[in-house]
Amino acid sequence: MTIKTRFAPSPTGYLHVGGARTALFSWLHARKHGGKFVLRIEDTDRERSTQESVNAILEGMTWLGLDYDEGPFYQTEHFERYDEIIEQLLKEEKAYHCYCSKDELEAMREAQMANKEKPRYDGRCRHRTEPKEGIAPVIRFKNPLEGSVVVKDLIRGEVTFNNKELDDLIIARSDGTPTYNLTVVVDDMDMGVNCVIRGDDHLNNSPRQINILNALNAEAPQYAHVPMILGDDGKRLSKRHGAVSVMQYKEEGFLPEALLNYLVRLGWSYGDKEIFSIDEMIEFFKTEDVNKAASSFNTEKLLWINQEYIKSSSPEHIARHLSSHLADVAVDPTIGPDIHRVISIHQERVKTLVELAQSIVYFYKDFDEFDVKAAKKNFKDAALIPLERLLAEYSQLEIWKAEDIHKVVTSVSEQLDLKMGKVAQPLRVAITGGAVSPSIDITAELIGRDRVLERISKAIMYIKE
Ligand code: GLU
Repeated sequence: MTIKTRFAPSPTGYLHVGGARTALFSWLHARKHGGKFVLRIEDTDRERSTQESVNAILEGMTWLGLDYDEGPFYQTEHFERYDEIIEQLLKEEKAYHCYCSKDELEAMREAQMANKEKPRYDGRCRHRTEPKEGIAPVIRFKNPLEGSVVVKDLIRGEVTFNNKELDDLIIARSDGTPTYNLTVVVDDMDMGVNCVIRGDDHLNNSPRQINILNALNAEAPQYAHVPMILGDDGKRLSKRHGAVSVMQYKEEGFLPEALLNYLVRLGWSYGDKEIFSIDEMIEFFKTEDVNKAASSFNTEKLLWINQEYIKSSSPEHIARHLSSHLADVAVDPTIGPDIHRVISIHQERVKTLVELAQSIVYFYKDFDEFDVKAAKKNFKDAALIPLERLLAEYSQLEIWKAEDIHKVVTSVSEQLDLKMGKVAQPLRVAITGGAVSPSIDITAELIGRDRVLERISKAIMYIKE
């Protein structure tokens, strides 16, 4: 049997990292078993669903590289099919119209509470034969009254629900629109989804959905309910804890594969291995190994993983993901030194692509001011002579290559009997504007001779002022 999983987000906001993790698990499960992965947009709540959110979900999936084999399907295009199924259930007397008013339901609830019973619909309209004048009814599913339902969950094992605990749920509202449990069941059935991986906030819906599937003579899928993600305070991860939207992580300078790697490890492990390529995730991931307990989001660890990916990715790959961040700092990498070389001397030094973009601006654009602290420390009068010597020698240098640039620094320090740092550090502040940079010779090579000469002259003037 070909495994078919799906990701079924409601487009009522951005793509949340929790949703992305669920999507990743579903995607991995499908890919691992040579199955299919479906994307279904659950947009029947027309008030809360927006096109903007649909776009955000699609954009997030694309950025993460979670490609789908079928879809995106939109539930709003399936209303006729839902009506057909509701009609079928009514006809087969597996569903019924319920005319209970709000007041009646409230009174029922209060009476049950007074009796210390769990509030539930008592099925009083099950046997009604006449409609009630002037009331638009809802439609309820006749949940079995006896027995139990077993949810066979790949993560939690078997979870048993007593049918007595489940009341007759509403499958169509009084305006005729179908409810979540009905639409999910119909679509999963029609699309041949045989493995439902979703958040464990849906665990209680599963026995109801299984009962509806049974009523439709359809086979229930396999389930895997993924525990939720908590913030560092133990509460459910939300905006209060910082970024929760996938695209915000893109904006903050994360590589998509680093976020995927972080998410796959959140609540799942394979020995003590931390870094997984996509192929390794597909090979090693098993839904059975997902933790039963909720896991906590740890931004520090995500940063660490991102750093590992930046260190080990090819400059070409980084450059592709860096371009939007370079645009943010108004750098056009086609005008100036080879961006791949610039990246290669920085990739060991940064945790995010935002940091990377910010730290390479001076290769492409002149800066107006030296960093105040760095200038104070390194542009004392004693720096004047070494800088003047460097300026003179660099303007004569025949080959503008790191090795030759380095030789000049060494010879100037020897000539002046200074420690290398007393020459190299003023040079660094002069040509980069600050006190921190990769090795000064390669940095100078990439900045280019004209700019280096100009910037040293500027530093000399600064010291003389
Ligand atoms: N649309 C539902 C949600 O976003 C998910 C439904 C499901 O996975 O069954 O919570």
